Amino acid sequence: MSSFDFQEIPKIFYSYQTQKPFSNCLVCSCYLLEDQTYIIEKALKKHPGFTAQDVIFDYAICLSCALKMRQEFSKESLEKINAYFAEHVDMNPLPPQDAPIDLDEALSQCVVKKIPLDEIANYQIYAHCQGNKLIKSIPPYLISQSAIEDLIPLISSDTQDILNGFYDRFLRPDPAMLLPKQPSDQLVFI
Ligand SMILES: [Zn+2]
Repeated sequence: MSSFDFQEIPKIFYSYQTQKPFSNCLVCSCYLLEDQTYIIEKALKKHPGFTAQDVIFDYAICLSCALKMRQEFSKESLEKINAYFAEHVDMNPLPPQDAPIDLDEALSQCVVKKIPLDEIANYQIYAHCQGNKLIKSIPPYLISQSAIEDLIPLISSDTQDILNGFYDRFLRPDPAMLLPKQPSDQLVFI
């Protein structure tokens, strides 16, 4: 990996609570900012006519915890999730490039449904990072609630239970955050 492979973590992926880069894995608490590889996920909600957005939840999870979680999913659910993404999304890593990633461009539409952000009220954004840097070969992406709703019926009830258990255990938002009424409307670990 060269310096071409990384750039600074955009502020939109900072922790809502601390307004700083996430420093620890939500699940195992390992320190992230030296050389851990990890994923940041943030669920946001827009309100028509307002520019401010609610952060429904946000967290960082190290790759080894994310993979462990995936191993608990049923084989059938994983196959369906993977098939859904293979059908709708070009997930090939980008070749190394000098220019920084254009974040507005990367997050301009739902990566699955290609709906423009202007027309999306609820969505989740994802970034893959290593240490205190963003990994450029996997640019940040945005998934609309509508794509998440397509995915939920593909997932077995056992796997939904795992996801909801994760939500209940780790993602109890602080009081400043808006608690969604239906945790199962959110899908973590895409
Ligand atoms: Zn972890």
